[in-house]
Amino acid sequence: MHSVQPTGHNSSALVVGGGVIGMATACALAARGADVTVLERYTIAHDWASSHGYSRAIRHEYGAKALYTKMVRRSLHMWKELAAETGRYLYTEAGVLTLGHADDGYTLPGYQVMYDEGLPVVQLTRQQCLRAFPQFRVYEYDAITYNASGGMLHASECVHALADRLRARGGTLREGVRVSRVFQKGERAGVVLQDGSQLTADRVVVTAGPWIHDVVPELALPVRPVRGQVCYVEGLRPEFFNPGTFPVFLAGAEAYGFPMQGPGWFKIGSDGRSIPANPNVPYGPDEEDIEALQRFMLRVIPSASRGKLVAVDCCMYDMTPDEDFILDKYPGSDRIIIGSGFSGHGFKFGVLIGELLAALTFDEEPAFPLDSFRLSRFSQSSGH
Ligand SMILES: Cc1cc2nc3c(=O)[nH]c(=O)nc-3n(C[C@H](O)[C@H](O)[C@H](O)COP(=O)(O)OP(=O)(O)OC[C@H]3O[C@@H](n4cnc5c(N)ncnc54)[C@H](O)[C@@H]3O)c2cc1C
Repeated sequence: MHSVQPTGHNSSALVVGGGVIGMATACALAARGADVTVLERYTIAHDWASSHGYSRAIRHEYGAKALYTKMVRRSLHMWKELAAETGRYLYTEAGVLTLGHADDGYTLPGYQVMYDEGLPVVQLTRQQCLRAFPQFRVYEYDAITYNASGGMLHASECVHALADRLRARGGTLREGVRVSRVFQKGERAGVVLQDGSQLTADRVVVTAGPWIHDVVPELALPVRPVRGQVCYVEGLRPEFFNPGTFPVFLAGAEAYGFPMQGPGWFKIGSDGRSIPANPNVPYGPDEEDIEALQRFMLRVIPSASRGKLVAVDCCMYDMTPDEDFILDKYPGSDRIIIGSGFSGHGFKFGVLIGELLAALTFDEEPAFPLDSFRLSRFSQSSGH
């Protein structure tokens, strides 16, 4: 009888960036027996990166994109496993309400996909919605769905849970270490640090979020850092805005929101105005976006408009042209792997993406097809 070794047995890996994607990838590499070190420029869950805060939505609502819906199902299961393993509170099942239009190409196809997947989703008439969620005025919407599965992941806590798991699996997290570039030399891959020193390993995974161009400028990846922000409102009545009575909601590109969290804050945001950002230059709140959200609240959630805006959390999205992720090998290298372009919706998939990137790193069959995440799709679509 011969024993089966994990695919990463006796190998080493460096992960550049300790956001949700990098931390989850490091955990998955460590599970394969690799000796893993995460190099994080600041600290994990820092305010300026995407992977932080009280909440990130986890929704199965992806229009007709059934692959994402299936991936969310798997990912949610994996987040629950992580919560059980670490004893941390990572997920609140608040349910997800979609306020849409019959012709928006998203709400009804999404309903069909979720229904076919066996998720607990229902279509609501306006009257049913008003009865179930009297906080919303829904007269302008004609396609409304409610899915009891989904809600919010507690983002910073999730990243810390991944750090717990990484430690338990023997991995190392080094904070305050900035990588300037990556390279492959023969059978080894490596990184050059800001102080000019080098580290090498069998594999390097780059998960630098909106800073991707600082680390691999030579690739000129089709990833655009843009500004993102969410607003927090206090002073609302808990009996109307706590999880259990108030769901996570989606209202097209205009707004999305969450029940009370943290110190009793209601959270609201929009897909934003896609203002390009330099991730190395801090910026303040986008007043135009805030005013648009206030107008939305007055119209659709009037009782929320009576609250007080207490905080605006500014951070960044790393957008690809099609808003699908990049999970691929560095062109021409078999030892450097890139996870990028999470386009403002990657957090919920974090723990699963870590598995997919680890599978790519060690040439395993991934749990989900990676074709739509390959870099080659951009060259195929050029010229159209
Ligand atoms: C306002 C906002 C709301 C969002 N809402 C949702 C949501 O509701 N649901 C959802 O699923 N997703 C949401 N997202 C998207 C989600 O948060 C991101 O897709 C996800 O967190 C991306 O993780 P990441 O690890 O790729 O990047 P990041 O979290 O940005 O991590 C990258 C890390 O790399 C480090 N790094 C960068 N350069 C270097 C270097 N040279 N050397 C060493 N380290 C480096 C950075 O310091 C950073 O910690 C939202 C994003 C924003 C900004």
